[in-house]
Amino acid sequence: MNVLDFEAVQEHTNILNVAYHLCIEIVKQRGNEYEAICPFCGYNKLSKTPTLSLNLQNNKYCCSRCGAGGYSTGLYAKVKEISNGQALKELLERECYSMDKTNLEITPTNTIEDIEIRDAIYRAFLGMLKLEIRHKQYLRNLGFHESSIEYGLYRSIPKNYIKRRLICKTLSRKYNLCGIPGFFQEADFKWCFNSFEGFFVPVFDKNGLIQGLSIHLDKPFNNNQDIWFSSNNKINGTKAKSFLMTSKLEEDSNSVIITDNFILGNLIRENFDTPLITFQNISNSYIILRELEKTNIKNITFVIRLKQANENLDYIINRIFRNLIPLNYNIDIKYIDEFKDIFEEKFSVNYTLNKVA
Ligand SMILES: [Zn+2]
Repeated sequence: MNVLDFEAVQEHTNILNVAYHLCIEIVKQRGNEYEAICPFCGYNKLSKTPTLSLNLQNNKYCCSRCGAGGYSTGLYAKVKEISNGQALKELLERECYSMDKTNLEITPTNTIEDIEIRDAIYRAFLGMLKLEIRHKQYLRNLGFHESSIEYGLYRSIPKNYIKRRLICKTLSRKYNLCGIPGFFQEADFKWCFNSFEGFFVPVFDKNGLIQGLSIHLDKPFNNNQDIWFSSNNKINGTKAKSFLMTSKLEEDSNSVIITDNFILGNLIRENFDTPLITFQNISNSYIILRELEKTNIKNITFVIRLKQANENLDYIINRIFRNLIPLNYNIDIKYIDEFKDIFEEKFSVNYTLNKVA
């Protein structure tokens, strides 16, 4: 434990880094104070206001509703139900949320641009990228047809630094990249984006506009294979929101499939004529509930991958579903081994039954 210098400990126990690892949803920022959804008491069902505040200055948290409070390490320990010592050890072993371990200084982040502008810029951006054969093959193996791979605008992330800079140079000549999650300026104020081993998965809204980009990593990072293309805490960076992808969700819909992975969501969307909500890395059901409330939905079928393929499963079950159960939805959980399982007869039969119910 002697390698732990003060700086490293400070970085790893930073309240925002802890919140990141716990998938705590930050709703608002006011100076050094962040308002978030409490992982212990969820959201306030009546006012739906975030009750957890995270203070960057003293690294403390407190919830005005359930009274939970303390330091960042304690927050991690409490959520994970481990000792403070174990929490510190785990935090130090995990990567800092800045991904590339560069500065963790909080620089002012931009407010996110309107969707029309994001859509235009992301489309121009994706237009400059290619989908490598191995990623195309990967999608084919999951059950995607050629045309839907094209329609989905999946693109491999360039590893070459010069290439990434050049792409941003071209892009920033035409567009202002402030307010577009994923892009940031480097020390020389030239625009760039981070490299990841993986490919982009555009997250469309119900009108077909690109809200943001999810990244599907070739190998899981911190037990997570799908992350947001985001650039908070970078010069002129912008934090991605937890975008939902909804499709065929109407006011009079009474059943819905909900799933936690955009690639899986796309596969379901393209093969089943059913209302669908897809999410990624959210810490509670608040944003899902907001969508459900606009509809007549009574029956929810969660389609999720089994534990060995989905490290967040316990988390999803305990935190996401928990808030929905008391609200009298009929909840059915359908576990799948692989994405392809959605084409299995058993899956379809169960699904039909549920729809009738
Ligand atoms: Zn609370």
